[in-house]
Amino acid sequence: MTRIIRIFLVTSIVIAVLSPNTIRSAGARSATTLVAGPPPAQYDDPYSEFRNARYSNAGLLNEREELKLGVQLHREATKKFNLTDAGLARVDRIGQRCARFSLRPGLTYKFHVIESREFNAFSLPGGHVYITTAMLRQANDNELASVLSHEIGHIVARHSLKTLKQSREYDDIATSLGELTGVAGTVARDLGVALGKMVGAGLLTVHSREEEREADFLGVRAMPGAGFDPQGMVTMFQKLQQIEERNSDLLGSLFSDHPDAEERIANTRYEIRRMRPR
Ligand SMILES: [Zn+2]
Repeated sequence: MTRIIRIFLVTSIVIAVLSPNTIRSAGARSATTLVAGPPPAQYDDPYSEFRNARYSNAGLLNEREELKLGVQLHREATKKFNLTDAGLARVDRIGQRCARFSLRPGLTYKFHVIESREFNAFSLPGGHVYITTAMLRQANDNELASVLSHEIGHIVARHSLKTLKQSREYDDIATSLGELTGVAGTVARDLGVALGKMVGAGLLTVHSREEEREADFLGVRAMPGAGFDPQGMVTMFQKLQQIEERNSDLLGSLFSDHPDAEERIANTRYEIRRMRPR
């Protein structure tokens, strides 16, 4: 991970940790001095900053470049991970339904299963979503939908593209993608080396807590439309929590870096209550 990215991640974590309390105490102060009504409801809303978000590739790689990048990154991922067809039909069936009800339904999504005893899932630009066999075996359909929907959320919000934009290699990669005409040739080979390093370092699949919260939000919102019980996200977090207590080595870095499970469960429950028709 480059130093800049690390600083950025630490900064966002610090902001994420500090801001709710700062906002709450400011609200409490004004309430006592101004004798205002109850504090605005949005202060308790863990997802307030995402509700009116609009998503596009503006300011990032355009969608064509993103798709080319996805093809290249997936090639690198296949070198690093052991892909299998086991359970793939189920993942694809559930994943495609979640994708259709996401905020980016026009993209072609490709789901992949990785043979591994680690519990992990991640996504890459251009619509590639990966999940491990260990995770698949633990999850019922609603829980699996919650994981896939969360990963689709990262793709909707272009989190990896934003991370890439902050990397030192961004200009070179963007230029190469512009010149790239196929998967063979010098440009493709050089690009492959650069992207292989990124996949190896997990650079594009490590997200800030803020981004994780956003993916949780986008994920849970898409579930009812796709025909899945959003409660599956809560029980998935609970299962991951149990795995962490039993054997944290089996928890992929992606989950151990994620925000606290208790907090995610509380936030998800909040959103489920909010989605319930009154
Ligand atoms: Zn995530």
